[in-house]
Amino acid sequence: MKTHKITLIPGDGIGPEVSSAVVSILEAAGAATGVRFEWHRHLAGAEAFEKTREYIPKELYESIEENRVALKGPVTTPVGGGFASINVTLRKKFELFANFRPVKNLPGLKTKYPDVDLIIVRENMEDLYAGLEHEVVPGVVQALKVITSKGSTRIAKFAFDYARKHGRKKVHAIHKANIMKLSDGLFLRCCRDVSLGFPEVSYHEHIVDNACMQLVMNPYQYDVLLTENLYGDILSDLCSAFVGGLGLVPGANLGTECAIFEAVHGSAPDIAGKDMANPTALLQSAVLMLHHINEPETAERVQAGLEQVYREGKVLTKDVGGTSGTKAFADAVLKAMEAPVAA
Ligand code: NAD
Repeated sequence: MKTHKITLIPGDGIGPEVSSAVVSILEAAGAATGVRFEWHRHLAGAEAFEKTREYIPKELYESIEENRVALKGPVTTPVGGGFASINVTLRKKFELFANFRPVKNLPGLKTKYPDVDLIIVRENMEDLYAGLEHEVVPGVVQALKVITSKGSTRIAKFAFDYARKHGRKKVHAIHKANIMKLSDGLFLRCCRDVSLGFPEVSYHEHIVDNACMQLVMNPYQYDVLLTENLYGDILSDLCSAFVGGLGLVPGANLGTECAIFEAVHGSAPDIAGKDMANPTALLQSAVLMLHHINEPETAERVQAGLEQVYREGKVLTKDVGGTSGTKAFADAVLKAMEAPVAA
């Protein structure tokens, strides 16, 4: 039996509920496929601060450094003040420069947009997320948008490499270079340069506001969306609506050394602690993680169980039109994995 050490950050809000559902499903899938997980659990954010006086305890940093793979629930970031985002801090600390977010319909779950299959590749460390803000004089605040050729080239290469490897036909760079001529202009120049090395992938550019409209009108015209940090954040939530909402869309923060897998959604304080959260997004993030650690059999077992539950449509959470809770949904996936039915 192979053992994987994985740093687990349950997070807060709905984080602990969805993480515990996902861990139980991974444990069962692992037991059936000869894979054991050693979970190294760590707090982060306000809860960690209460216990350790640190928002990201030293032990959490060390654990990610050692294990190189983490599964992370959402962590609340205070709005308009308070501590810096834990998510952004971790992405910077471990140079997780690529945020990879596949948006794909699940079988059996009807949405207004069937058969969507998009990839969002979002630069994960630069842009307005540099957090460089200051008050110039009372009533005037400056926030710095940082775009570098190193960061832009690296993310463009990631997107094109992915497209090449997975037979994706098109990459659209999303920008606002008509207004931010220097910063988004630099991003675009880097994307164009990289695109020249990938003649089999067609390269396009859309201005971000137009892209929002185009996406809602016809998402099928896109394949891989290549974006800066902020546009990618916003477009991810928009695109999640095509496939049933934030409860479904997974994500991976990838660097050259480490990777942190987490859903697109946040801590959803409106439904936290009510057994209402959909664990699918974190579960699909865990499937990405299983592929990353080279456990495809376990990944496929989880994905097949999940898809069977959606195909049957009997035990679904409220966000996707069902009446079941988080725990009942997780139990249904566990059951489906035990007795798989051919698709
Ligand atoms: P959110 O994603 O938490 O919630 C937006 C809406 O989607 C809410 O109505 C929520 O109930 C619903 N939703 C989200 N996930 C769901 C799930 N799994 N199942 C069912 N419904 C779900 O966004 P928000 O309310 O804008 O942010 C809340 C907090 O989360 C903020 O502090 C924000 O900074 C933080 N956040 C953290 C991360 C992260 O940890 N990576 C990402 C985004 C937001």
